[in-house]
Amino acid sequence: MRKIIIASNNAHKVEEIKTALDFEGWTFQTLKQAGLESDPAEDADSFEGNARIKARAVHALCGGECAVLADDSGLEVDALDGAPGVYSSRYAGEDGNDAANNAKLFAELEGVPDAERTARFVCTLVFIDEQGRETVARGTIEGRIGHELVGENGFGYDPLFIPDCFGGELTLAQVDQAQKNSVSHRGNALRVLRQMLSESGE
Ligand code: IMP
Repeated sequence: MRKIIIASNNAHKVEEIKTALDFEGWTFQTLKQAGLESDPAEDADSFEGNARIKARAVHALCGGECAVLADDSGLEVDALDGAPGVYSSRYAGEDGNDAANNAKLFAELEGVPDAERTARFVCTLVFIDEQGRETVARGTIEGRIGHELVGENGFGYDPLFIPDCFGGELTLAQVDQAQKNSVSHRGNALRVLRQMLSESGE
């Protein structure tokens, strides 16, 4: 069995990753399951940089005994020059406060017309194998920012993000998890990574 440590304790992400990378002989563990603790400062100015910081920190901890997968993601709004970007989880200051982040985003976009509310979620994955070889995959989903929170599913900015797919009428919080995975930035990045790993013989 090949052990892959996922540099996260987020149960949703872990399930999605396991389903997408269902290679024979691979077994996945969260940091907690592997008995590891890692929380490096994510101070890079790109999603790729932050994913690399997380992946390398865990790779150093397992001393080449395992492969590691880390991701970093967020929302880029064109009218805000790409903000909140790498600051997506702490846009309103408090780490992980979805309600405050969403309220701040609506306030920043006050008066901005629909045509200029274009945005995308971005996800970058960094996979490091046992020998330290790195593979980077990126996925996006294009859409726009709505005017109110709609839908109960998902997390984060999902209730205000209206992807171009699904007729451009539903937020990501109005579709179920499987539908979201089939079009999402993380789903797309995982499909790219799966292809790259297959091709490189990993
Ligand atoms: P991280 O990659 O877990 O650090 O996510 C960064 C932040 O981006 C999250 O806290 C959310 O605010 C936002 N985000 C990332 N992916 C999604 C998503 O699929 N839906 C909604 N918000 C997301």
